[in-house]
This record gives sequence, C-alpha cells and structure tokens, in this order.
Amino acid sequence: MIPQSFIEDIQSRTDIGQLIGSYIPLKKAGRNFKALCPFHGEKTPSFLVSSQKQIFHCFGCGAGGGAIQFLMLYEKVTFPEAIEILATRLGIVIPYQRQEQNQIKTTLYTAVQEASRLFHDSLLSAKAPLDYLYKRGITQETIKKFYIGYAPGRNTILDSLRKKSFSLEALEKASLVSARNSGGWRDVFNDRIMFPIFDTRSRVIGFGGRLWRDDPKSPKYINSLEGPLYSKREHLFGLNFAKEEILQQDSVIVVEGYLDMITPYSCGARNIVASLGTALTAEQIRLIRRYTSNVILLFDSDKAGEMATLRALDLVLENDINVKIVSLPKGFDPDSLVREKGIDAFRKLLEAKSDFFDYKIGIFRKVYDVASIEGKTKIAQEMLATIAKLQSEIVRYEYIKRLSGILQIKEEVVIAEFRKIAKHASQSKTYDTSLMRQPEARVSITERVLLKFMFTNHKALALLRKSVREDDFASPIARRAVAYFFKRYTGSEEYSSSKILSTIEDKEICGFASQIIMDEEIPLDKEIFKSSLAKILQQRTKVVKEKIKNEIKEAEAKGDRERLKVLVTQYGKINSEDGK
Ligand code: ZN
Repeated sequence: MIPQSFIEDIQSRTDIGQLIGSYIPLKKAGRNFKALCPFHGEKTPSFLVSSQKQIFHCFGCGAGGGAIQFLMLYEKVTFPEAIEILATRLGIVIPYQRQEQNQIKTTLYTAVQEASRLFHDSLLSAKAPLDYLYKRGITQETIKKFYIGYAPGRNTILDSLRKKSFSLEALEKASLVSARNSGGWRDVFNDRIMFPIFDTRSRVIGFGGRLWRDDPKSPKYINSLEGPLYSKREHLFGLNFAKEEILQQDSVIVVEGYLDMITPYSCGARNIVASLGTALTAEQIRLIRRYTSNVILLFDSDKAGEMATLRALDLVLENDINVKIVSLPKGFDPDSLVREKGIDAFRKLLEAKSDFFDYKIGIFRKVYDVASIEGKTKIAQEMLATIAKLQSEIVRYEYIKRLSGILQIKEEVVIAEFRKIAKHASQSKTYDTSLMRQPEARVSITERVLLKFMFTNHKALALLRKSVREDDFASPIARRAVAYFFKRYTGSEEYSSSKILSTIEDKEICGFASQIIMDEEIPLDKEIFKSSLAKILQQRTKVVKEKIKNEIKEAEAKGDRERLKVLVTQYGKINSEDGK
C-alpha cells in the first residue's frame, strides 16, 4: 500500500493542466482548458480541464477525475502505476511495498532492458552485422538513438540473464527464451539484428529481430511473442521518438516496418511511426488519436499493402480521423525510397497524397468495369460502406455526389442505397462504448447540490453524515458515491476536491464526482444547501409515512388491533415532528 499522505503530496505537486497538456493539445477556454476527448470519438471538444480545481471531466463520455485518474485511463495503468508515473515526473521515490503483480512486470521490464543492453553492446563489436547496417545507410547515430542491437545467439541471453538470477519463467514471459522440443531452453533470437520496441514512455517492451545474411529458410523478421509487456495491437513502433513532432505537425505518417520508420526519421521526416503488422488496429488508431487526427498511410503498393490500406481506411474514418494515402512507386518501400532517391523525393511523394475516396475507387476501378451493371453495384457497395464510416453528414453527401457522378447513377438512387448500408454499418462501431454513459443525467438538482457540497467541503460532509443516509438518495450512482464518502471520510479534516478525487479508485464514482464538481450550474450556496438538505429529509419522511400507511392498511385488513395501535402512534409522532 502507498501511504495516503504520499498520494496527496504528489497529487498536490502536480499541475493537472501541465500533465494533460503534455499528452494532448489543450486550448484555453475561460478559466478552463478545452480539448477533444482522448477517451471517446468526438468532433467538438467536450473535455474540460480545470487548473483551479485540479480536475478534468468529459461531458461527452463521463470520464473524469484528478491527475491519477487521467493517467489510469490514458496510459491504461493501475492506480499504483499512475502514482508511480506522477512520482517519476516529480523525481520522487515511492515509499511502499510493490504488489506481486507489479513486481512481476517490473522483473520483466528489467529483463528486457538487460537484454537490450546486451544486444546493443554486442552489435558494437560485431563487425559483419555492423557493416551490413552501415551499408543500408544506418549511421552510428541512428544505432545509438534506436538502441539497435545484435543477438549473437548461442544462448548468450539465456546464460547471462540466468546468471543475473532471472527465472526461466520470467525470461520466457519476456519472450527472450523458449523451450526446446527436445527439452532444455534456448534463446529466441539468434544471429539477428535487433530493434527494441519501446512503449510511449520509452521503456523497452519487446524486440524485432531481422535476418541480416541471406537465409531463404528463415523468416526475415522474428518478433517478440505477445506477453504481459508487449502486445502488437496496442503499440506503434517509434511513437516514443516521434510523438512530439506528431503533436507539433499535427499529423502522422504510418508505415509498415522498422526500417521504413527509422530511415525517413533519421533523414528528418520525424512524425512517423510503424504499425508492425500489415493492418492498423483499432487500438493503434486510438493511440494515434491522442496526438493528432491527421493520418497519412504509406503502405507498400503490392496487393497485401493495398488490402492493408483498405482495411485501415474504414477503421481510421470511423474514429473521425482525416486520412490521406500515399502510393509508393512499384518496388519501393519507404526505407529503400529514401535511401535511393533521397528524403526530398520522399517529401514530394507525401505532397502527392490522395484522399481515401480517390484511393479506394482507384483500386476498385482496376478490378471492376464501371460501365457494367455488376461493376457499378460492386463499386457502389464498397464505396458507400466506407462513406458510411464518415462522421459528418455534409462530407458524406459530398462523396455521395462524387460517386454518383463517377458511376453515372442518379444521386437519389445512390442515397437510397447508402441508407441501407449505413443502417447496417452503424451496428458495428468500434468505439469503446463502456465509457459512453452519463450516470448523473438522472440525478435531481437537490441531490446534486448536496453532493457538490460533500465533494468540496469537509464540514458539509460531517453535517451530512449526521443527518442523512445513503438510501435517502434516489439515484444509484449518488447512493454509491455517498456510501463511498461516508465510509472513507469523517469530515473532521479539511480537503480539496482534487485531493478527494485523487483517492477514488472507482472509475464511475470518480467520473460522477468530477462532473458534479465541474458543473458551474450547481450552486455552492449555503442557503440552497440547507433547503436541499431539508428537502431530502422531507422526502425520507414521506417515504416512511407511505410505508406506515401501507402497513396500517394491511393491519386493518388482517384485523390486527395491537399492531394497528402501534402503527397509528408511530404515524402521529412522525406527523407532528414533520410539522415542526
Ligand atoms: Zn469523452
């Protein structure tokens, strides 16, 4: 466990505006900052950050909280990990015992880091692989920057990391060693050039190992297997190096392979990342969205590359990202193009990008005959399915017009066809809908006033503890929040809203609390507080009276006189108290 005082301390030393501003672009809006929410797809900003209150809240999806909650959602880390990130930013060491789960991860990070150091050092003394890299235009500087290495094999990793007392289990989980069929263990990477894969926080999480001599029997690349650290779907190669430039240029170039990223980057095209697979995944697109909503896809122009681009298109558009596509000249990839024709040729190619529509219809026109009925139908279906992914009605209509022109079919007919397809498409969105709830929508103003006081003022909390119970609140989320607060706080100590939020581990309660605190419409007025408290107590009396009334009816029906007498007395007492 981490001491509460420590959590409060690092939270109070962190400026939430600065923290969030280092992840996503914030615009000043009055006393607050505004941004496009990084947690759900949106076009107009409903994500607010208050430096004064040290909290954030998205009025679109309900996410909210303090600095810790932001990190939990954004970096997808646990509560203690978020605190660790904040502490690291501030250069403070955490005084706590790590939980077992964290300990395993930490061991794996260390193992992978050790391995990457070993690979890197090995490369510097491996003449032939080094010469191979130099020949491919990789400079010493680039080797250093990307921490490129060489895996000598011969169980070098197995032996040296075992000596450093890493368990076989850990080394296997880190995808550094694997079990032999014949029994025993061996290094996963043998005689390969090694590209470390970093996460956005620049920690090594895995490797890509490239063949450097001709060997038609071995695959060109071997990658780390998926494990606790590395998941191919969720990372983009090079993002840790490129993220600042991506923010600055407000656009990102997405390529396929390690060298396709490294070579242009080293020559000055720095807003570039690699997908490390043939197709972009929804997770990778969400990752991109944190930095920009302008994507340039630069995949190979072979059949596989085209298919990958087409698949990526729909996903990207669905997430409301502007996408342009660059077709590479036949036989080139970004790496070879930059090496053979120079970075200027590469830049020129980027300028000649086409939008998704031209690109996609270009591909389908090669396959189908636009003049035939079958061709028109097929092309229309394909294009409309992609147009349906667009978020703006106006933009959709523009493309429908273009399509109707190309196919020479009346607009109304294309629109009718579009409606059918769009209906189908809307059922398969890739957004994370778990956040798309607004639990506070049905909470009455009376309850909201009381809650806002409770979230921001310890004296109000003490008073509420004395006079109300959680089930006096009608809405389930308000009840949960009240129960949570009553359990944790006595109201004897002063607190601020950010301090309070920093302790909430429940995502829903936290989002709810941040919404209430952020909502300027809810008055923080003592008189209104008093009348709201009175109202909720009246409400309780009303409920109790209703209950007794029903019981009286029941007793009458049963002819239970004793019971009736008790109930009537009770009712009279409540009635007279109520009148006071
Ligand atoms: Zn949101």
